[in-house]
Amino acid sequence: MKILLTGGAGYIGSHVLKRLLEAGHDTVTIDNLKKGHEKAVLGGEFIEGDIGNKELLKSIFAEHEIEGVIHLAADSLVGESMEDPGKYYHNNVAKALNLLELMVENNVKYFVFSSTAAVYGEPESIPIPENHPTQPENVYGESKLFFEKILKRYDQIHGLKFISLRYFNAAGADPEGQIGEAHDPETHLIPIVLQTALGIRDKIYIFGDDYPTKDGSCIRDYIHVNDLADAHLLALEALAAGKDSDIYNLGCGNGYSVKEVIAAVKKVTQKDFEVEVSERRAGDPAVLIASSEKIKSDLNWKPAYQDLEKIISTAWEWHKSGGFSDE
Ligand code: UDP
Repeated sequence: MKILLTGGAGYIGSHVLKRLLEAGHDTVTIDNLKKGHEKAVLGGEFIEGDIGNKELLKSIFAEHEIEGVIHLAADSLVGESMEDPGKYYHNNVAKALNLLELMVENNVKYFVFSSTAAVYGEPESIPIPENHPTQPENVYGESKLFFEKILKRYDQIHGLKFISLRYFNAAGADPEGQIGEAHDPETHLIPIVLQTALGIRDKIYIFGDDYPTKDGSCIRDYIHVNDLADAHLLALEALAAGKDSDIYNLGCGNGYSVKEVIAAVKKVTQKDFEVEVSERRAGDPAVLIASSEKIKSDLNWKPAYQDLEKIISTAWEWHKSGGFSDE
C-alpha cells in the first residue's frame, strides 16, 4: 500500500516507518522536524512540512495515490498541555482535521491514529479495558479524545475507517541501533534514568513516593516501541482487509513502579547513581496498566518484549551510542 505517515521522524513514528518499509509498503513521510530528526527517516519519500499547511497536504494527495494515513504528528507533553492548552487543541485537533478533509476529498478510507492512555484519566479499575470511562485529566488526553470523537463521526458520515491506538508508556529502541528516543527536552522516565547512568544528569528525581502503591511510587505499563510499531502495521492491514473501525489499548499488561524502573536501570547498566524523592508531578495517576487483550485477540498482536530489563537494554544500547548527538 502507499501510506502517508505523519510524524515519521519522531520517536515512535520512525519505528513505525521502519516496520512499514520492512513490510514492503510505499511511504510518504511528513514531519515538521520541530521534535523529529531527519536521520530517523530510514527510507521512502520525506517531506519536511507541517500538517497545518493544507496546500502542502493537497499537493501530496494530488501527487501520490495515498491509500491509507497513519497519523502520529502531534504534541504530547502533559505538563505543557496544561500551560498552553490552545497549542494542543490547535495542533492535535484543528490541524489534524486537514488530513480527514483531504482523505474524504480523495476517497482515502483508512486511518490509523496515535491516541493515548491519558484519555482515561484516573482509572476506576486496573487493568484498564477500552470501554473504561474516558475522563481525561489533562488537555493532552482531551485533545486525543476529541479527535477520536471526530473520527467516529467521519466513519458514520463519510465511511472513513479508523483504528485508534491508545498508547501506554512507549520505551526502548530498535535493536539495530539506527533509531531511538531523542527528545529535547527529555521528560520521560526511562531516558532520564539512562542519562543519569551516563552521567549526563547528576541524579534522578522520583516524583512522589506517597502514592497508594506497593512502594509509594507511580506504576506504569511500559511497552517496547517496536511492539507498538507492529500494532500500527496490523491495524492498517486489518482496515484494508475490511475490518470495521475500532479502538485498542497498547501496553504490555505489566506494571512497574518508578523505583522498580530505577533498580532495573542500575542492574542493566551496572552503574550506580543518586536518587532523590521530590514532589509529585501534577496530573500523574498512581497506576496505569493496560488490558491489551482486545488487540491480541482481534488483530493477533503479539508483543515480543514482556520484560522491563529487556526493554531497558535496547534503550541503553541506543543511549550509550550517543543517539543522534552528532546532529
Ligand atoms: N517520573 C519520575 N521522574 C522523572 C520522570 C518521570 O519520577 O524524572 C515518573 C512520572 O511521575 C510518572 C512515571 O515516572 O509517574 C512515568 O513518567 P513518564 O513521563 O515517563 O510517562 P507518563 O506516564 O507521564 O506518560
